[in-house]
Amino acid sequence: HARAGGIGNWSVFHQQMGLVAEYRQWIESELHTAFERGDFVVHYQPQYDLLSGKVVGYEALVRWRHPERGMIPPQEFVPIAEETGMIALIGEWVLRKACADAHLMPPECSVAVNISTVQFMTKDFLSQVRGVIKATGIEPHRLELEVTETAMMQDRERAATILEELARMGISVAVDDFGTGYSNLSYLIDFTFKKLKIDQSFVRRLETDANSGAVVSTIVGLSRALGVRTIAEGVETENQATLLKAAGCEVVQGYLFGKPAPLQVRETHVEPPRRVATA
Ligand code: C2E
Ligand code: MG
Ligand code: MG
Ligand code: MG
Repeated sequence: HARAGGIGNWSVFHQQMGLVAEYRQWIESELHTAFERGDFVVHYQPQYDLLSGKVVGYEALVRWRHPERGMIPPQEFVPIAEETGMIALIGEWVLRKACADAHLMPPECSVAVNISTVQFMTKDFLSQVRGVIKATGIEPHRLELEVTETAMMQDRERAATILEELARMGISVAVDDFGTGYSNLSYLIDFTFKKLKIDQSFVRRLETDANSGAVVSTIVGLSRALGVRTIAEGVETENQATLLKAAGCEVVQGYLFGKPAPLQVRETHVEPPRRVATA
């Protein structure tokens, strides 16, 4: 730890802490301007069905393209946006953008949108979702909301009501980063959801750690018993995909199948000019 290196390291430590604090403050002060300037963009990562070999959905992932500083990853600004409450605005925008973009995707594909705990807990969350569906005309069954265990555990009664209402509207919910939040599994009994999303930390260790395999198999078994589906995130190698398939995981997502990227607008197909056959 910091003290072990003596006084010299202390000052380096403090200097770094100062920089971290400064950077945080910069992000905090810049978020609003960035939002209004239109810095935020949404990238999409394909979700791939191992049985059919087809893309069945896309996860929407927000990106901050700062005009001077370039790409700022979500891990650096989402937590700060959550603290300041800005995530409610950004999150609603991402939701609306993703639902609008769904019209440009193959109609059999769903679009998954991450919902922050803060956004999930806002009073008008459900009416926000209803508004976006109405405004964009997305078929509700194509929309999937990725919610974490933490979000659902904040106020269990309220969460249960929201999840029930989302299901009634025909919207799917996936439990994101499953297995990294609460070890208390009792919420699985109370809550309505369609999918468990196996966290990438389990996938990463699949090839080297037998315990990781045991956890993955157990999550798949649990999903089946609950009548929900399983998706694995962070799949980077063929071997991981093979192991996941063997464990019974149906859908996978990861760099092996495609990195998050701007939406590929399918261009209108125009017939090439006919060549007159030369004899
Ligand atoms: P997440 O929802 O668990 O998203 C998965 C993250 O893993 C994404 O990082 C994705 O780019 C990355 N990933 C995908 N495949 C691979 C792989 O094969 N290997 C590795 N190493 N990583 C992979 P990203 O886009 O940086 O997002 C990080 C987190 O930020 C997300 O984790 C999510 O919690 C949050 N986030 C992203 N977009 C939004 C958003 O629109 N709203 C909210 N509230 N949170 C968001
Ligand atoms: Mg996610
Ligand atoms: Mg995740
Ligand atoms: Mg994650």
